[in-house]
Amino acid sequence: MRESQGVKILMYHWISGDPGQRLRHWGVTPDQFRCQMRFLHEHGYRTLSLGEVADIVRGARSAPPRAVALTFDDGYRDFLHEAVPTLEEFGFSATVFLVADRVGESNSWDARHGDPPRPLLSWSEAAALASRGIEMGSHARTHRPLTLLSQEELREEIAGSKAIIEEKLGLAVRHFSYPHGLFDGRCLGWLREAGYETACADIRGGNRQGVDPFQLRRSLMTCHETQWSFFFKIRTGFGMREWAATAMASWSGHSAQTSAQEVP
Ligand SMILES: [Zn+2]
Repeated sequence: MRESQGVKILMYHWISGDPGQRLRHWGVTPDQFRCQMRFLHEHGYRTLSLGEVADIVRGARSAPPRAVALTFDDGYRDFLHEAVPTLEEFGFSATVFLVADRVGESNSWDARHGDPPRPLLSWSEAAALASRGIEMGSHARTHRPLTLLSQEELREEIAGSKAIIEEKLGLAVRHFSYPHGLFDGRCLGWLREAGYETACADIRGGNRQGVDPFQLRRSLMTCHETQWSFFFKIRTGFGMREWAATAMASWSGHSAQTSAQEVP
C-alpha cells in the first residue's frame, strides 16, 4: 500500500450506540470512535484545522507527515457527549458543520429514509463547543442538494447560512461542507463571493498543494470501519474498494469515480 500525498480529512456524521437501520452506514459507535482516536494518538498523529489544510493546498506551508483533520457534518447533538470528551482527552481539534435553519431541530432531510430523527445541536450548545475550541462551519441552511437550486436559493444557502451562524455565535465562519456532497461551478462562485476559505467535498484522496480549496478531499468514516480499514483510509484517503477501483481505472487509462455514494 502506497501512501497517497497530502493531509487526509476524515468525515464523520453521528457518533451513536444506535447507528440506525437504513442510514447506519454513515454512523460510527462511540467505541469505534474512541478506538480510532486512540489509534491516531498512539501512532503520533496530530490534528490540523481546515485553515491549516487551506494553507497546505495553496502552497503556503508543507504537509506534516502524520496529520489529519476531523470534520463532523450536520451538527448532531451526540457530538457533545460521544466525541468531545475523547477529542479533549487526546488534544484533537475538529470542525462541526451546522445546518443553519435546522439548528436545535433534527435531521428532517433524512426522514424519507425511515430512520428515527436524530437531534441536532442547539445554538447554545454550538456556542459552548466553539468556546471549547471546536470550529463551526456551514453545511448550508436547509441541507437541500445545491445543484438543484436557483441562483437566488444558492446565495441563501451559501452566503445566508454563513451570515446566520456568524450572527448567532458571534464568530467567523470560514469553512463550508456540501450537503449530500453535491456541488457545481455556481457553488464555487458563491463560496468565493461569500468569503469562505474552504469547502469540503465527498471526493476521496489526500489534500496536497494544488488541490482546489473548494473541493477538499475527505474520507468517509462508516459503521463498517475496522482498525485495518481505518489505517488504510488515513494512509491513502480511500476505502479499500475505492482504492482498487481507482487503481484499475488508472491502469486502464480511465479516470475513476472517486466519490462514493451520495452522503446524507
Ligand atoms: Zn449532511
